[in-house]
Amino acid sequence: MAHPLRSLPSVNELLSTPVLKAWVDRANHSTVVNAARRVLDEVRRQVTVAKRELPIPSPSELAERIAAWIEAVDRRGPCPAINATGVLLHTGLGRAPWARAAIEAVEQVAQGYCTLEVDRESGERGARGEALERLFCELTGAEAALVVNNAAAATLLALTVVASGREVIVSRGELVEIGGSYRLPELMTACGTGLREVGTTNRTRLADYEAAVGPQTAAILKVHCSNYRVVGFTESARIEELVKLGRRAGLCVIDDVGSGAMLDPASFGVTSEPAVPRSIAAGADLVIFSGDKLLGGPQAGVLCGARKWIDLARRHPLARALRIDKATLAGLAATLELYRDPQLARVHIPLLAMLDTPLANLRWRAQSIAEQLEAQQVVEKADAIETEATVGGGSVPGATLPSWGVAVMPRSISAESLAVRLRKGDPAVFTRIQGNRLILDLRAVFPGEDAKVVEAFGPLSESRNTPSVENSKSDSPLDSLTNPAPSDSRESASEDSE
Ligand SMILES: *Cc1c(COP(=O)(O)O)cnc(C)c1O
Repeated sequence: MAHPLRSLPSVNELLSTPVLKAWVDRANHSTVVNAARRVLDEVRRQVTVAKRELPIPSPSELAERIAAWIEAVDRRGPCPAINATGVLLHTGLGRAPWARAAIEAVEQVAQGYCTLEVDRESGERGARGEALERLFCELTGAEAALVVNNAAAATLLALTVVASGREVIVSRGELVEIGGSYRLPELMTACGTGLREVGTTNRTRLADYEAAVGPQTAAILKVHCSNYRVVGFTESARIEELVKLGRRAGLCVIDDVGSGAMLDPASFGVTSEPAVPRSIAAGADLVIFSGDKLLGGPQAGVLCGARKWIDLARRHPLARALRIDKATLAGLAATLELYRDPQLARVHIPLLAMLDTPLANLRWRAQSIAEQLEAQQVVEKADAIETEATVGGGSVPGATLPSWGVAVMPRSISAESLAVRLRKGDPAVFTRIQGNRLILDLRAVFPGEDAKVVEAFGPLSESRNTPSVENSKSDSPLDSLTNPAPSDSRESASEDSE
């Protein structure tokens, strides 16, 4: 009698089932082959170890299992996305894209071992991130620096070290919520720090801080309004004034500047963001900022400032819990290295390059994309239009940047449905909706992505990477919302090369 495993179909046989054909067309070929091998191995293993005879699954049953496996793997991590929202630092889309140098540095340390925490002279255990921290000092003028996981972590650490069991004075207008559950008053509670609110929502003066200083006061915290603006009848104390008060009253002055601009943001047309070196120069004892905002690097939180406080923070048990890994360290160091030559930074740090892109360039690209989109079935009309992009963090106007984009009037589906379709494509394309039109803002779209944006409107863009098993049963499984696909667009859509 033939061994039961003999009737197991081959990988090639499985690839010709309708379900897997759909996957081969839309996903990567080797992904499907790998999945098929894994599922077949699993079946072989089960049949081999089974005490009684197990039925061999049919090819279509196996194909479904393989498809389910690919889908499960597919959903494990984030998918590449094109950011046509006009929000440069879109937290949902991962904030700042990394510089090539940062990516290469990460690859170098990720593939093997590295000198993460070792002293090369003695061979003994060394300090993690020492060189990176020196670089931060060099670039910001700070005495000392410490890098942790994100700015929220840096705030947590700073408040715990400086003011645990005591009070911190904060202006009523600066008690921020950043989203993703960051709410300053709650964070302070978590640190065991008392909050002493001063002033009013719109106006807080130096005198308000002065009047609030008492025996319990440990620090003054200034927080940059990065995702909202208080406009109109407003007043707030400048960091220089707060530093003077802090010196007089023996308080630690903490400046949470948020975005971590190393160069003058005004030189990019962003006038509402503070630069880190300015706050250090003003004398803040601790300056807190993110690595993945205007700095344009990986997610990280930086504490810069007086050695006394940084050393205390470094020795605190929380510092160990909040420390960064080798990939972040390598990526951040490579990004910072670029800042040694501001011209180099402006060219090679994607976020800065986006801020620097001339309007004429964006307009030209918008016109070209609009023209190509008009040829798509799903597009009724596409026009290049002037738009306003934002640096990000929130949707309230403040730091708006002139930009160009494409306004798309969809044919026979709503702008919302089209937006969903684009978001579920591969790469995912994120847009914004204005009335019944879809707006593609080009300020945060890499020039190399323009062709993919156009392709995303093609008949096959919906769920290209994750065809569901039910859909796959039909002849043209992914065209439910769209029109029949010309076979050539299948080919161009299947591989992603950048
Ligand atoms: C973004 C931001 C934070 C939080 O930064 P993460 O790095 O996301 O933790 C804190 N404070 C301000 C002012 C911010 O802008």
